[in-house]
Amino acid sequence: MRSCQTTRREFLRREAAGGLGLLSLTASCATTEPPSPQEAAIEAMETSKLLIQATAVRRPVQEPLPGVFASLGLETVYYIRCGERAVLIDTGFLHNADAHLSNFESAGLSLGCVDAILTTHYHVDHNGGLAHVRQRLGCPVVAHKNAVAAIESGDRVVTAAEMPFLQGWSFPCAACGVDEVVEAGDDVTVGSIAFKVCHLPGHTPACTGYLWEGNLITGDVVFPGGTLGWYDVHWGSNYLDTVDTMKRIEELAPRQLLPSHLLPFAYEASITQNATAAAKDMMNGNKGGPVCFTTRAPLRETGAATRAIQIDPRH
Ligand SMILES: [Zn+2]
Ligand SMILES: [Zn+2]
Repeated sequence: MRSCQTTRREFLRREAAGGLGLLSLTASCATTEPPSPQEAAIEAMETSKLLIQATAVRRPVQEPLPGVFASLGLETVYYIRCGERAVLIDTGFLHNADAHLSNFESAGLSLGCVDAILTTHYHVDHNGGLAHVRQRLGCPVVAHKNAVAAIESGDRVVTAAEMPFLQGWSFPCAACGVDEVVEAGDDVTVGSIAFKVCHLPGHTPACTGYLWEGNLITGDVVFPGGTLGWYDVHWGSNYLDTVDTMKRIEELAPRQLLPSHLLPFAYEASITQNATAAAKDMMNGNKGGPVCFTTRAPLRETGAATRAIQIDPRH
Protein backbone atom coordinates (compact mmCIF):
# COMPACT_ATOMS: atom_id res chain seq x y z
CA MET A 1 0.00 0.00 0.00
CA ARG A 2 1.32 3.42 -0.83
CA SER A 3 1.96 5.55 2.19
CA CYS A 4 0.65 8.71 0.55
CA GLN A 5 -2.77 7.13 0.03
CA THR A 6 -3.17 6.57 3.74
CA THR A 7 -2.21 10.17 4.39
CA ARG A 8 -4.65 11.44 1.81
CA ARG A 9 -7.47 9.32 3.20
CA GLU A 10 -6.86 10.58 6.70
CA PHE A 11 -6.76 14.11 5.40
CA LEU A 12 -10.06 13.66 3.61
CA ARG A 13 -11.65 12.11 6.68
CA ARG A 14 -10.73 15.22 8.62
CA GLU A 15 -12.18 17.34 5.83
CA ALA A 16 -15.37 15.30 5.79
CA ALA A 17 -15.68 15.93 9.51
CA GLY A 18 -16.20 19.62 8.77
CA GLY A 19 -12.93 21.27 7.90
CA LEU A 20 -12.12 23.41 4.91
CA GLY A 21 -8.90 23.20 3.05
CA LEU A 22 -9.15 20.78 0.18
CA LEU A 23 -7.56 23.67 -1.63
CA SER A 24 -4.39 22.75 0.14
CA LEU A 25 -4.49 19.18 -1.07
CA THR A 26 -1.35 19.70 -3.05
CA ALA A 27 1.30 18.12 -0.91
CA SER A 28 3.29 15.65 -2.88
CA CYS A 29 4.05 12.39 -1.19
CA ALA A 30 6.60 9.72 -1.68
CA THR A 31 5.41 6.37 -2.92
CA THR A 32 6.95 3.22 -1.58
CA GLU A 33 5.47 0.65 -3.94
CA PRO A 34 2.83 0.88 -6.62
CA PRO A 35 -0.62 -0.48 -5.74
CA SER A 36 -2.04 -3.45 -7.58
CA PRO A 37 -4.81 -2.56 -10.07
CA GLN A 38 -7.38 -3.92 -7.62
CA GLU A 39 -5.97 -1.91 -4.73
CA ALA A 40 -5.94 1.17 -6.90
CA ALA A 41 -9.59 0.69 -7.94
CA ILE A 42 -10.75 0.26 -4.33
CA GLU A 43 -8.65 3.22 -3.27
CA ALA A 44 -10.14 5.38 -6.01
CA MET A 45 -13.68 4.42 -5.04
CA GLU A 46 -13.08 5.13 -1.37
CA THR A 47 -11.38 8.39 -2.16
CA SER A 48 -14.29 9.46 -4.39
CA LYS A 49 -16.77 8.84 -1.58
CA LEU A 50 -14.62 10.79 0.83
CA LEU A 51 -14.23 13.62 -1.65
CA ILE A 52 -17.99 13.86 -2.01
CA GLN A 53 -18.39 13.94 1.79
CA ALA A 54 -15.57 16.44 2.16
CA THR A 55 -17.15 18.85 -0.28
CA ALA A 56 -20.71 18.58 1.09
CA VAL A 57 -22.79 21.71 1.62
CA ARG A 58 -23.06 23.03 5.16
CA ARG A 59 -26.13 24.64 6.67
CA PRO A 60 -27.31 27.29 7.14
CA VAL A 61 -26.46 29.94 4.55
CA GLN A 62 -24.63 33.01 5.77
CA GLU A 63 -25.30 36.64 4.91
CA PRO A 64 -21.81 38.16 4.88
CA LEU A 65 -23.01 41.38 3.21
CA PRO A 66 -26.53 42.82 3.15
CA GLY A 67 -28.53 40.97 0.49
CA VAL A 68 -25.64 38.62 -0.31
CA PHE A 69 -26.20 35.05 0.84
CA ALA A 70 -23.43 32.45 0.76
CA SER A 71 -23.92 28.69 0.71
CA LEU A 72 -20.68 26.91 1.46
CA GLY A 73 -19.33 23.53 0.59
CA LEU A 74 -15.78 23.32 -0.67
CA GLU A 75 -17.14 25.94 -3.06
CA THR A 76 -19.22 29.02 -2.35
CA VAL A 77 -22.43 29.72 -4.23
CA TYR A 78 -23.99 33.15 -3.79
CA TYR A 79 -27.61 34.22 -3.98
CA ILE A 80 -27.71 37.98 -4.42
CA ARG A 81 -30.89 39.96 -3.93
CA CYS A 82 -31.43 42.53 -6.64
CA GLY A 83 -34.46 44.33 -5.25
CA GLU A 84 -37.39 42.03 -5.95
CA ARG A 85 -35.30 39.78 -8.16
CA ALA A 86 -32.12 37.74 -7.61
CA VAL A 87 -29.11 36.12 -9.26
CA LEU A 88 -27.06 33.08 -8.46
CA ILE A 89 -23.31 33.26 -8.74
CA ASP A 90 -22.28 29.80 -9.97
CA THR A 91 -24.02 26.58 -8.95
CA GLY A 92 -21.30 24.43 -7.34
CA PHE A 93 -20.54 20.78 -8.00
CA LEU A 94 -23.43 18.78 -9.45
CA HIS A 95 -23.65 16.68 -6.26
CA ASN A 96 -24.02 19.90 -4.24
CA ALA A 97 -26.27 21.92 -6.56
CA ASP A 98 -29.64 20.91 -5.08
CA ALA A 99 -28.29 21.22 -1.53
CA HIS A 100 -27.18 24.81 -2.25
CA LEU A 101 -30.64 25.62 -3.61
CA SER A 102 -32.44 24.09 -0.65
CA ASN A 103 -30.02 25.92 1.65
CA PHE A 104 -31.21 29.21 0.12
CA GLU A 105 -34.85 28.16 0.33
CA SER A 106 -34.43 27.26 4.00
CA ALA A 107 -33.28 30.84 4.57
CA GLY A 108 -36.55 32.07 3.04
CA LEU A 109 -35.01 33.03 -0.30
CA SER A 110 -37.24 32.40 -3.29
CA LEU A 111 -35.80 30.46 -6.19
CA GLY A 112 -38.63 31.84 -8.31
CA CYS A 113 -36.93 35.24 -8.08
CA VAL A 114 -33.69 34.00 -9.62
CA ASP A 115 -33.50 35.44 -13.11
CA ALA A 116 -29.98 34.41 -14.11
CA ILE A 117 -26.89 32.42 -13.20
CA LEU A 118 -23.73 34.49 -13.53
CA THR A 119 -20.71 32.23 -13.90
CA THR A 120 -17.22 33.08 -12.66
CA HIS A 121 -15.42 30.40 -14.72
CA TYR A 122 -15.86 26.91 -16.07
CA HIS A 123 -14.37 24.76 -13.30
CA VAL A 124 -16.33 21.74 -12.10
CA ASP A 125 -16.40 22.82 -8.44
CA HIS A 126 -18.30 25.95 -9.45
CA ASN A 127 -20.30 24.88 -12.44
CA GLY A 128 -20.53 21.09 -12.57
CA GLY A 129 -24.18 21.65 -11.62
CA LEU A 130 -24.80 24.39 -14.16
CA ALA A 131 -26.80 22.36 -16.70
CA HIS A 132 -28.93 20.89 -13.92
CA VAL A 133 -29.71 24.22 -12.25
CA ARG A 134 -30.33 25.96 -15.58
CA GLN A 135 -32.92 23.31 -16.39
CA ARG A 136 -34.41 23.20 -12.89
CA LEU A 137 -34.85 26.97 -12.57
CA GLY A 138 -35.34 27.66 -16.26
CA CYS A 139 -33.12 30.70 -16.11
CA PRO A 140 -30.40 31.92 -18.45
CA VAL A 141 -26.71 31.25 -17.98
CA VAL A 142 -24.37 34.21 -18.35
CA ALA A 143 -20.73 33.47 -19.20
CA HIS A 144 -17.67 35.23 -20.54
CA LYS A 145 -16.89 34.61 -24.19
CA ASN A 146 -13.70 32.73 -23.24
CA ALA A 147 -15.74 30.32 -21.11
CA VAL A 148 -18.27 29.33 -23.75
CA ALA A 149 -16.33 26.51 -25.42
CA ALA A 150 -15.56 24.74 -22.12
CA ILE A 151 -19.08 25.15 -20.71
CA GLU A 152 -20.80 24.11 -23.91
CA SER A 153 -18.54 21.09 -24.43
CA GLY A 154 -18.14 20.03 -20.77
CA ASP A 155 -14.51 19.21 -21.61
CA ARG A 156 -13.37 17.06 -18.70
CA VAL A 157 -9.81 18.29 -18.62
CA VAL A 158 -10.39 22.02 -19.11
CA THR A 159 -13.23 22.06 -16.56
CA ALA A 160 -11.03 20.14 -14.05
CA ALA A 161 -13.75 17.48 -13.87
CA GLU A 162 -10.88 15.01 -14.15
CA MET A 163 -7.60 15.59 -12.36
CA PRO A 164 -5.58 12.42 -12.80
CA PHE A 165 -2.96 13.50 -10.28
CA LEU A 166 -5.65 13.55 -7.57
CA GLN A 167 -6.81 10.01 -7.23
CA GLY A 168 -10.59 9.84 -7.11
CA TRP A 169 -11.11 13.38 -8.35
CA SER A 170 -13.62 12.68 -11.08
CA PHE A 171 -16.88 14.60 -11.09
CA PRO A 172 -19.72 14.98 -13.56
CA CYS A 173 -19.65 18.16 -15.60
CA ALA A 174 -22.43 18.08 -18.17
CA ALA A 175 -22.24 20.32 -21.19
CA CYS A 176 -24.49 23.34 -20.73
CA GLY A 177 -25.80 25.96 -23.09
CA VAL A 178 -24.74 29.57 -22.55
CA ASP A 179 -27.59 32.03 -23.04
CA GLU A 180 -25.81 35.37 -22.67
CA VAL A 181 -22.20 35.69 -23.76
CA VAL A 182 -20.54 38.67 -22.10
CA GLU A 183 -17.22 40.43 -22.13
CA ALA A 184 -15.45 43.12 -20.19
CA GLY A 185 -17.36 46.35 -19.95
CA ASP A 186 -20.80 44.86 -20.42
CA ASP A 187 -23.48 45.69 -17.89
CA VAL A 188 -25.80 42.85 -16.93
CA THR A 189 -28.89 44.21 -15.24
CA VAL A 190 -30.98 41.97 -13.04
CA GLY A 191 -33.75 43.62 -11.05
CA SER A 192 -32.30 46.71 -9.38
CA ILE A 193 -28.61 45.88 -9.90
CA ALA A 194 -26.43 46.51 -12.95
CA PHE A 195 -23.44 44.20 -12.67
CA LYS A 196 -20.33 45.45 -14.51
CA VAL A 197 -18.56 42.55 -16.20
CA CYS A 198 -14.79 42.48 -15.56
CA HIS A 199 -12.32 40.16 -17.24
CA LEU A 200 -9.88 38.75 -14.65
CA PRO A 201 -7.78 36.09 -16.44
CA GLY A 202 -4.91 34.20 -14.84
CA HIS A 203 -6.37 31.20 -13.02
CA THR A 204 -8.16 30.54 -16.32
CA PRO A 205 -8.46 32.76 -19.42
CA ALA A 206 -12.20 32.96 -18.75
CA CYS A 207 -12.24 34.19 -15.15
CA THR A 208 -14.94 36.79 -14.86
CA GLY A 209 -15.67 39.34 -12.18
CA TYR A 210 -18.97 41.12 -11.58
CA LEU A 211 -18.80 44.52 -9.88
CA TRP A 212 -21.57 46.43 -8.18
CA GLU A 213 -21.49 49.07 -5.45
CA GLY A 214 -17.86 48.37 -4.55
CA ASN A 215 -18.40 44.59 -4.33
CA LEU A 216 -16.35 42.52 -6.77
CA ILE A 217 -17.11 38.86 -7.33
CA THR A 218 -13.69 37.35 -7.93
CA GLY A 219 -14.26 33.60 -8.27
CA ASP A 220 -10.95 31.75 -7.95
CA VAL A 221 -8.82 34.77 -8.88
CA VAL A 222 -7.55 35.75 -5.43
CA PHE A 223 -8.16 34.69 -1.84
CA PRO A 224 -7.58 36.28 1.57
CA GLY A 225 -4.07 37.59 2.03
CA GLY A 226 -3.46 37.53 -1.72
CA THR A 227 -3.31 33.76 -2.04
CA LEU A 228 -3.75 32.49 -5.58
CA GLY A 229 -5.89 29.54 -6.63
CA TRP A 230 -4.47 26.53 -8.41
CA TYR A 231 -2.77 26.99 -11.75
CA ASP A 232 -2.62 24.39 -14.47
CA VAL A 233 -1.62 24.58 -18.11
CA HIS A 234 -4.55 22.33 -19.01
CA TRP A 235 -6.93 25.07 -17.91
CA GLY A 236 -5.04 27.81 -19.73
CA SER A 237 -3.71 29.29 -16.48
CA ASN A 238 -1.19 32.05 -17.01
CA TYR A 239 0.71 34.06 -14.41
CA LEU A 240 1.35 36.95 -16.80
CA ASP A 241 -2.40 37.43 -17.01
CA THR A 242 -2.57 37.32 -13.22
CA VAL A 243 -0.17 40.27 -12.97
CA ASP A 244 -2.42 42.30 -15.31
CA THR A 245 -5.52 41.17 -13.47
CA MET A 246 -4.17 42.34 -10.12
CA LYS A 247 -3.49 45.77 -11.66
CA ARG A 248 -7.06 45.78 -12.93
CA ILE A 249 -8.44 44.98 -9.49
CA GLU A 250 -6.31 47.77 -7.98
CA GLU A 251 -7.77 50.20 -10.49
CA LEU A 252 -11.29 49.05 -9.73
CA ALA A 253 -10.56 49.68 -6.03
CA PRO A 254 -13.37 47.49 -4.70
CA ARG A 255 -14.32 47.51 -1.04
CA GLN A 256 -15.14 43.81 -0.83
CA LEU A 257 -13.97 40.77 -2.77
CA LEU A 258 -16.36 37.83 -3.07
CA PRO A 259 -14.41 34.64 -3.78
CA SER A 260 -15.87 31.33 -4.93
CA HIS A 261 -14.32 29.51 -1.98
CA LEU A 262 -14.74 30.75 1.60
CA LEU A 263 -16.44 34.06 2.41
CA PRO A 264 -16.16 37.67 1.21
CA PHE A 265 -13.29 39.71 2.61
CA ALA A 266 -12.31 43.37 2.62
CA TYR A 267 -10.01 44.51 -0.15
CA GLU A 268 -6.76 46.21 0.74
CA ALA A 269 -3.76 46.96 -1.46
CA SER A 270 -1.60 44.27 0.15
CA ILE A 271 -3.89 41.59 -1.31
CA THR A 272 -3.14 42.43 -4.93
CA GLN A 273 0.50 43.24 -4.07
CA ASN A 274 0.98 39.81 -2.50
CA ALA A 275 -0.82 38.07 -5.36
CA THR A 276 1.33 39.90 -7.92
CA ALA A 277 4.50 38.95 -6.04
CA ALA A 278 3.33 35.32 -5.86
CA ALA A 279 2.62 35.25 -9.61
CA LYS A 280 6.03 36.74 -10.40
CA ASP A 281 7.71 34.24 -8.05
CA MET A 282 6.00 31.39 -9.84
CA MET A 283 7.02 32.75 -13.25
CA ASN A 284 10.60 33.04 -12.08
CA GLY A 285 10.50 29.56 -10.59
CA ASN A 286 11.47 30.98 -7.19
CA LYS A 287 8.93 28.86 -5.36
CA GLY A 288 9.81 25.66 -7.13
CA GLY A 289 6.24 25.30 -8.28
CA PRO A 290 4.95 24.47 -11.72
CA VAL A 291 5.82 27.18 -14.19
CA CYS A 292 3.00 27.65 -16.64
CA PHE A 293 3.53 29.29 -19.97
CA THR A 294 0.42 28.99 -21.99
CA THR A 295 -1.00 31.30 -24.58
CA ARG A 296 -2.29 34.40 -22.92
CA ALA A 297 -5.96 35.12 -22.51
CA PRO A 298 -7.19 35.86 -26.02
CA LEU A 299 -9.27 38.80 -24.99
CA ARG A 300 -7.40 41.92 -24.00
CA GLU A 301 -10.03 44.27 -22.79
CA THR A 302 -10.13 47.97 -23.48
CA GLY A 303 -12.22 48.81 -20.45
CA ALA A 304 -14.74 50.57 -22.66
CA ALA A 305 -18.35 49.75 -22.00
CA THR A 306 -19.75 47.61 -24.74
CA ARG A 307 -23.34 46.59 -24.23
CA ALA A 308 -26.14 46.83 -21.72
CA ILE A 309 -27.83 43.48 -21.25
CA GLN A 310 -31.19 43.45 -19.53
CA ILE A 311 -32.24 40.13 -18.00
CA ASP A 312 -36.02 39.91 -17.99
CA PRO A 313 -37.86 38.59 -14.94
CA ARG A 314 -38.92 35.01 -15.42
CA HIS A 315 -42.33 35.40 -13.80
ZN1 LIG B 1 -11.17 27.36 -10.56
ZN1 LIG C 1 -12.49 26.58 -7.34
